Amino acid sequence: MPRPKTIATTARPTLAAILDRLYGVHRTAAWMLAFCPLHFSLGPALLLRESPHRGVELYCIEGCAPEAILRAIGFVAAAPQKGAL
Ligand SMILES: [Zn+2]
Repeated sequence: MPRPKTIATTARPTLAAILDRLYGVHRTAAWMLAFCPLHFSLGPALLLRESPHRGVELYCIEGCAPEAILRAIGFVAAAPQKGAL
């Protein structure tokens, strides 16, 4: 599995806040699964997890951009702030 992209957002939504806006949420040992808001699928295609230092990681198996996914559910993505780690 490729490395998930990490996203920085102005609102810094928590994993719980993101899952709250998604359907079909399942928990696995390493990831939360949910339906991707950007395309139809028969099963959950979106993987999410909380990264201790980098916010929430999102990975769609269909290749949707994390920024587009967050935008689709109402979170606005922003460029990482200078000096922020
Ligand atoms: Zn997708």
